[in-house]
Amino acid sequence: GAGRCRLSKVGAGRRPPPARVRVAVRLRPFVDGTAGAGDPPCVRGLDSCSLEIANWRNHQETLKYQFDAFYGERSSQQDIYVGSVQPILRHLLEGQNASVLAYGPTGAGKTHTMLGSPEQPGVIPRALMDLLQLTREEGGEGRPWALSVSMSYLEIYQEKVLDLLNPASGDLVIREDCRGNILIPGLTQKPITSFADFERHFLPASRNRTVGATRLNQRSSRSHAVLLVKVDQQERLAPFRQREGKLYLIDLAGSEDNRRTGNKGLRLKESGAINSSLFVLGKVVDALNQGLPRVPYRDSKLTRLLQDSLGGSAHSILIANIAPERRFYLDTVSALNFAARSKEVINRPFTNESLQLRVLAPVKLSQKELLGPSEAKRARGPEEEEIGSPEPTAAPASTSQKFSPLQKLSNMDPALLERLLSLDRLLGSQGSQGTHGLNTPRREQMMLMKTMEEKDLEIERLKMKQKELEAKVLAQEAVDPKDKENSPAVLRPLARRTVTVAKPLKKAVVMPLQLIQEQAASPNAEIHILKKRGRKRKLESLGASEPEEKAEDCWELQINPELLAHGRQKILDLLNEGSARDLRSLQRIGQKKAQLIVGWRELHGPFSQVEDLERVEGISGKQMESFLKANILGLAARHRCDPS
Ligand code: ADP
Ligand code: MG
Repeated sequence: GAGRCRLSKVGAGRRPPPARVRVAVRLRPFVDGTAGAGDPPCVRGLDSCSLEIANWRNHQETLKYQFDAFYGERSSQQDIYVGSVQPILRHLLEGQNASVLAYGPTGAGKTHTMLGSPEQPGVIPRALMDLLQLTREEGGEGRPWALSVSMSYLEIYQEKVLDLLNPASGDLVIREDCRGNILIPGLTQKPITSFADFERHFLPASRNRTVGATRLNQRSSRSHAVLLVKVDQQERLAPFRQREGKLYLIDLAGSEDNRRTGNKGLRLKESGAINSSLFVLGKVVDALNQGLPRVPYRDSKLTRLLQDSLGGSAHSILIANIAPERRFYLDTVSALNFAARSKEVINRPFTNESLQLRVLAPVKLSQKELLGPSEAKRARGPEEEEIGSPEPTAAPASTSQKFSPLQKLSNMDPALLERLLSLDRLLGSQGSQGTHGLNTPRREQMMLMKTMEEKDLEIERLKMKQKELEAKVLAQEAVDPKDKENSPAVLRPLARRTVTVAKPLKKAVVMPLQLIQEQAASPNAEIHILKKRGRKRKLESLGASEPEEKAEDCWELQINPELLAHGRQKILDLLNEGSARDLRSLQRIGQKKAQLIVGWRELHGPFSQVEDLERVEGISGKQMESFLKANILGLAARHRCDPS
């Protein structure tokens, strides 16, 4: 009954896990007459699903990315349409929703892919043709359902929703009905029965948007053009059910980073120039594809609009458009990272001829090239710049320098460097599979893990040493009649337990390991501590049968409870208030776990104790314990060194 026509709707009891967003990458060919057309490419396809790009950090490596589909520079409009778009259209007639989104930097081919030209029509005209044909067939006389198609066309610009079929109406609101359908009251909706109908509405609106004054070009590269095609179905006989399927065809805003100006003053945090819809789209796609519990649809207009058409039972494809020119390099890397599910570092230089032993010139990137096409454009001639970011005047003159991995990072512009590093962090967080990635955060992670293991071993070693010394001390005491006289009920004579003796005990446990080692190396401190411990253990062992185990417990319990509590509180605060990035500063918390934690928190509220971490799906009790072990001591130690 109703279930059939509500297949795609959110909100009903048990649902299948949200659908993944499929990702295709399209590399456009060099475009004649534009800058860099004579350059060697810095990216190339490997097979129908993967490509490789030069690694900016190390020109002895390339980065290999894997996607659901890769379309090379010789692929046709038909290839992309048949391969990635056509298969999802039939779901519209089943009452499910679908979306096709073209992503990528300005000039990389989004509009070509979505709209195309009369000679090379893109996804939009092809999909419209097919859908209209399909509805004519399926909705013909004598068929059980009557079908009708309508279209709306809107633009999201600076988080405002504007009706392109009725530009006079201002910012529109996005609503959700009780069944989880997303709608925009007041949005023009034109019925279309033929392709001519569609063109009659679409072309003027589209022309208005893209070929106006320079400022409109600027605007068109920063706004999302959203074409909505709705297929309504009405059953001809009782029970006269209704179905609705929505198809979104979206030419997204340019993904180039408008904050990137090469200027020192602008920091990543300054949000004025961030296209929040594009930014949140990335988070939504990430959450869907990682199966995270919370998908932040509501954080932007675009994703809010797509809430019922991205994830859920909807069928979505993201087509990341990239360009081969070197001046696009950074934007290409960032677009690939946005889209990538997996990346691999390959230990071979990126040369012009693949698989050739002779090494050709590695990719060299000048400062200007690193800045990307948007800045290069700005450098060619002043263009309207809405978000008043200053011109990159102080760029160091490194134009012809080879961009080797260790090339004086200090010479680089801080903003640029920060961006490169954040890109690189992103690279590392996208599930790198490579083991040779000498410069990747993945390796840093491995190193950290190794350090942790070494620390654990070190602790074991110190415990052993401690036991050895304890045994020695006990043996010594055994031959010392004075000590023997002491009644077990009385500890050491107080006079002999000076403050200076007691202090190292705390230190020995809570201080960073190097310091423990130093102390262990100092015989005096060691004997003091161990004497005390030995004594205590001896006392306990009088009544207990398993002195060895007691000793272990004892070691653990020696941590100053105040510091322990402080460490716990610090972790708890971080868990409750830290961003995913902050959380990654903790030991044993990578990108994925950080996101799981943030997701859990948003769903369930604050953690009341650190052990609650175990309740986060994807974090086991064992992991929680090892997390506590790795972090509490560290934070307590930091507190000890720098009490604040
Ligand atoms: P975007 O919309 O991403 O800014 P465009 O679609 O306008 O980029 O493409 C920039 C230029 O490159 C246009 O002149 C376009 O015709 C051309 N172009 C893009 N993709 C291709 C392609 N696959 N084949 C040939 N020309 C292309
Ligand atoms: Mg465009």
